[in-house]
Formats: sequence, C-alpha cells, structure tokens
Amino acid sequence: MDLLNTLVDKGLRRELPTREEALAVLATPDDQLLDVVAAAGKVRRQWFGRRVKLNYLVNLKSGLCPEDCSYCSQRLGSKAEILKYTWLKPEEASKAAAAGVAGGAKRVCLVASGRGPTDRDVDRVSKTIEAIKEENEGVEVCACLGLLSEGQADRLRSAGADAYNHNLNTSEGTYGEITTTHTYADRVDTVHQAQAAGLSACSGLIAGMGESDADLVDVVFSLRELDPDSVPVNFLIPFEGTPLAKEWNLTPQRCLRILAMVRFVCPDVEVRLAGGREVHLRSMQPLALHLVNSIFLGDYLTSEGQAGQADLDMIADAGFEVEGAGTTTLPRHRADVAAGCGSHAGGHASESEGCGSHAGGCGPCGEVPEAEAVPAAEAPETQVPGARTDLVAVRRRGAGTDLAPNA
Ligand code: SF4
Repeated sequence: MDLLNTLVDKGLRRELPTREEALAVLATPDDQLLDVVAAAGKVRRQWFGRRVKLNYLVNLKSGLCPEDCSYCSQRLGSKAEILKYTWLKPEEASKAAAAGVAGGAKRVCLVASGRGPTDRDVDRVSKTIEAIKEENEGVEVCACLGLLSEGQADRLRSAGADAYNHNLNTSEGTYGEITTTHTYADRVDTVHQAQAAGLSACSGLIAGMGESDADLVDVVFSLRELDPDSVPVNFLIPFEGTPLAKEWNLTPQRCLRILAMVRFVCPDVEVRLAGGREVHLRSMQPLALHLVNSIFLGDYLTSEGQAGQADLDMIADAGFEVEGAGTTTLPRHRADVAAGCGSHAGGHASESEGCGSHAGGCGPCGEVPEAEAVPAAEAPETQVPGARTDLVAVRRRGAGTDLAPNA
C-alpha cells in the first residue's frame, strides 16, 4: 500500500514515478486490483473529474497497406476479411462523422491506411476536414495519416485539423519485431512534426503483443517524454489472418493494471481507452472508466465495438458523464499552453484506435506487392484461459458501406 500511496501523491503533483514503481503496478496481485484502481482513480479525478471524452473514428481508406505492422488487419499480406476501400469523398466522411457527433463525440478521428500521405492525399483530407468543421460546429478533428513529410503537418493545421495521431505502439527495443517497413525513430519524428506545427499530439501504445512488463514501462515512459496531449491505450485485437492472431495473452485484470500504470506515469494527460476494450476487458469495462478519461464511441477502424448506446449507458451507470463540447478536456496548466480545443502544443486538444498505429496512406492498389500468406496456424499459442476469440467482429457497417454507422 505504500506503493499506491506514493503513486497517488506523485500523480497529484504530476511527478514522474520511478521505473520500479511502474513495474510494481504491473506486478500487483489480483487481490489488490481494486486498491490499484481506487488509487489511480484518485489521480484521474484530480485532473479530469468524472468526465469522459468521446471520440469517433472514421476510416477514410481501409486495407491494403504496404507496411507490415504485425498487429494490423490492414497490413501488407493481411488475410483478415476486412472492408477494403479507397478514399471516402469529403461528403461521405462528413456524413459518417456527423453520426458520431450526434452520438456525443467531441472529437472525430480521420484515419487512413498506409505509410503516409502524398501531398494530394493531404489536399483530399484538408477538404474533408473543412467539410466536417462546416457541418459540425465546435467539433475537434484529429488526422491520422501515417508518417508525415515536411510541411504536411502545417498544411493539415491550416486546413483546420486540431490534432494529429501517431502511436509509438511499443518500446523502442522491440519495435523491429513488430514492424520492419519503418522505424521507431520515424514515428517519433512524425509526432515531433505534428507538435512543431501546433497540432495537439496524440500518441499511444498497443498492449498484448507479447511484450514484457519492462517493454510496457519503456513505451509509457517514452510517451511521457514525448509529451503528447492524449495517449490512446489499445489492447491487441488478434485478427485471424495476421501474424499476431494467436496472441491472446491479456486478461481484464492485466488490462486494468496497464491502464493504471499509464495513468500514474501520465497523470494529467488524456488517457484514452482504445481498440480491444470490449474484447479484453469485457464486463470489467466500467472499472476502466476510473482510470481513463476518454474512450472511442462505437466501432473501430476494421472491427466492431459495442453498440454506441451501450457505451453511453455504461458511462451513465458507472456514475460518469460525457464531456460536453464546451468543456476543455485538459487541465488548465496544459490547456493554457494551447489555444483552441484544450490541449497544448500551440493550440488544441487531442486522439487513435484501432489499427493502433496511425493511419495514412497508400491506395487500395494492385501495386501493393502480394505478401506471403500469414501462417497463422504456426504462430505460437499464447492464449490465456477465458480468452474470447468470438468477440472479434469485423466491421461491416458505417464508413465505406451502405449501412448506418454505430454511434
Ligand atoms: S498500422 Fe497503419 S501503417 Fe501499419 S499496416 Fe496498419 S494501416 Fe499500415
């Protein structure tokens, strides 16, 4: 309990815990789980009260990415039977975004598969941002288009983007085991470009990819150093047809400890519960609201979330409230650094999900080299007891389809 008292004191003072303390959170036994949640909950309430920010994902371009991120259903050679489509038109994206906003989302996250945008892609997304802003007064827009080239962040900012998402995903030491087509340093560079352009940076991680506790602590400490305004925490959705399809190694208790550790290390940052919450936390999702202050509403990029109304009911039943459009997300000391929507970095607040990376893109093209089939059956079996593989549902509605979105 000394550990938890120390971490609460540090969290209330925005003081960085030691690595040993962060590791100790991950090592707490299940018997102490509620104590851990209660302690991190105090830190959460200090900086964010009982507010829950809702974010809504719009997948602008889905599948057939040339990158090889092992966790991603849109990766090179993925055999996952996801929706594949090229760029949505601005009016299509705006219509999808409006459904999320009507459901209570304060931020719309525009994501596209691919290594990074061409300048033409940036033009296209700029028109989409403008269309969404015109139709939805006060909405925050975050772009997630992959690795940025020089000048692209400025152009997105000029088009009205409030934030840019690009996740670190995992520790620098293990990054090469997850992805070979770009580097950890590439990712850090893009986050820096976004910050330099005055965009609110959003950068987070994916847990459950076979990493060690030390890797998790490494990536969260790296995020603290990078100082994004929001940190999405994804729990791997092991898609059939991807190399990590058999990585079922998370329990609800483990997820809660990870979220608590992130809250202690990044106490005053928007911590967002992202992809995989339904699959891995299951009936324990409401407890996570004591740790995070932000979630995605409805569906993810390529998988379905629980019904949007179920998200709203869960928030209300757990005694939390949806953050209104007029409320600044971040605490004053961070928001003051920014202008606009309440983050820092020159202007706004912050986002991710899903594919857990970024987003961006190259086309749904035949030019993408046909990758070797993923030998999912040969992947190591790491399934924990109680894993619910049946909860992974490919998204078949919303953006890119004729069916109504889930919001
Ligand atoms: S995470 Fe992004 S860059 Fe990586 S494979 Fe998926 S869509 Fe492509």
